[in-house]
Amino acid sequence: MEKVIGIDLGTFNSCVAVVEAGAPVVVANRGGYKVTPSMVALTEAGKRLVGHIAKRQAVTNAENTVFAAKRLIGRKWESPQVKNSMTSCPYRIVEGPHGDCRIQLRDKVYSVPEISAMILQEMKMIAEDYLGHEVSKAVVTVPAYFNDGQRQATKDAGAISGLEVIRIINEPTAAALAYGFGKNIDRTVAVYDLGGGTFDISILEISSSGVFKVVSTAGDTFLGGEDYDQRVIQWLVDGFMEEHGVDLRQDRMALQRLKDASEKAKCELSSVTETEVNLPFIISSAHNEALHLQRMISRTQLEELTADLTKRTVQICGMTLEEAGLEKDEIEEVILVGGMTRMPMVQQSVSEFFGRDACKGVHPDEVVGLGAAIQGAALIEDTPEMDMVLLDVTPHTLGIMVVGGYFEELIPQNTTVPTSRSKPFTTVRDNQTAVKILVLQGESRRAEDNELLGEFILTGLRRAPAGQVEVDVTFEINADGIVSVHAKDLETGKEQSITVTATSGLTSDEIEHMMQDAKEYAVARRQDEETERARQEAETLIAEIETLFPQVEAVVEGSDFGRDAIEKARTVVDRARSLMERGDAPGIRDQIEALSRTQRMFKGVVGKSS
Ligand code: AMP
Repeated sequence: MEKVIGIDLGTFNSCVAVVEAGAPVVVANRGGYKVTPSMVALTEAGKRLVGHIAKRQAVTNAENTVFAAKRLIGRKWESPQVKNSMTSCPYRIVEGPHGDCRIQLRDKVYSVPEISAMILQEMKMIAEDYLGHEVSKAVVTVPAYFNDGQRQATKDAGAISGLEVIRIINEPTAAALAYGFGKNIDRTVAVYDLGGGTFDISILEISSSGVFKVVSTAGDTFLGGEDYDQRVIQWLVDGFMEEHGVDLRQDRMALQRLKDASEKAKCELSSVTETEVNLPFIISSAHNEALHLQRMISRTQLEELTADLTKRTVQICGMTLEEAGLEKDEIEEVILVGGMTRMPMVQQSVSEFFGRDACKGVHPDEVVGLGAAIQGAALIEDTPEMDMVLLDVTPHTLGIMVVGGYFEELIPQNTTVPTSRSKPFTTVRDNQTAVKILVLQGESRRAEDNELLGEFILTGLRRAPAGQVEVDVTFEINADGIVSVHAKDLETGKEQSITVTATSGLTSDEIEHMMQDAKEYAVARRQDEETERARQEAETLIAEIETLFPQVEAVVEGSDFGRDAIEKARTVVDRARSLMERGDAPGIRDQIEALSRTQRMFKGVVGKSS
């Protein structure tokens, strides 16, 4: 049966897992790492780099290295979050053709789903290398607080990468799934997930019958480790300004170095109480004199700089408990997820709030990927071990705009999905043939404060006096959290199906085109890898032949036949070398056969003579 992979598409790191023999395992990448940086870069030569190799060159190629693209996915150009990223990111964020935002790397402009697709494609390839066959289906996780636009855009990213995303699940839910899988427990748990870019909290009821029911969820898709880093950066920039009167933010390369150093210091302060940020030659002064940044930072200082961020996560926990109608002491286990939960202050604040220490048994970086893999297996495998039901909720209220600019609620937040609600609309004018409906998601009473998912116009209504035509509109949220709308004229039974306008800013033609590009990339990449493997094999054979040459020459010296064989061997080696220089993969592969024959022959000659 075909395997479904589980991908935790993180803001800073991604992780891929599969279920094997009934147990989920994280797949390590070629470097042996279980997580891969969610980074994409374009080199001067136009080569795409993804993961660790992109991260390694980020300082020297800051403008063309994308990180934290997840913070931009499904966001509109005009949104405050995009404006915020524009000031803090060294790469260029530009306006897209459909009110979306795009990323410019050298002379190419990419949509955000396309960048995410490159990361998904990398994770797909890591899984394929491990499994030894192609995979085409995945379960991908998203922050619980992602809205419809962000989910749609993530699904688009999956399609572009060549993966059919059979389900999108929420990260905390995936974590709970991995935690409860195979345990046969009845327990109410809180999953506190603070990653690089987002914060989520979910309260779940796990039952021994295999039901994982989310009771409530909340979060902030713009609150995470990156904000902690920014506080340290700001503190260093301010200090440097005071000392030298130079603004480090003006220099992209300096900013990238600062970012790396700030994150490193933050992580170090989870295990030590003081650390030094040391960046020699960070910038030049107005008089062209090299300036260095050297400053000690303590854990207490970091905690002070970021106190409001940690406090905000705890406040959101309070709101979520209230929504769930639970008291703190009714939470029987607290599960910490995401790299930021390694920070002692974060752990302490969560323990203080819930009045209990967090569970130690889960790996904060791997648990989400594992949960996604479990869900993937559960969706396709019909076995008792995989018999489980996941009941998630919608994180935002879905509604429409009504007269006066108000927001009328149709599906309240924390409703179990999939779900649907119908609402009758009546014509208000004689012979009215069309009705325009604006679909929004959010918690404000004022429609304009909420996220506009899209608008649609019901057309072709029967001509009749006002109030005589009744159209039933059904709003649906599927298990992925994605919204769709259908309409039915109750009298004629005529149906209209309306797709809420895609907010990822991509048309189906564009997606098709990007899929084609991704396919071509995958083919070229596999060819490159094959060339590399063939080159390495040829190099090993050549090295062995070279070391045997003197011995073979000594043995066959004096015989014409021997000299002939030596001559031929030289030609084989020279030809292999020139093919390698040209990077001619099929040629190298053919030549490996000739090299192997020569190597066997040489070994035979040397073996016989000894
Ligand atoms: P994630 O999105 O779950 O991969 O989390 C990544 C975030 O966790 C980044 O902001 C990291 O800087 C942060 N992080 C990783 N390790 C640590 C650590 N030891 N202490 C504090 N933060 C960390």
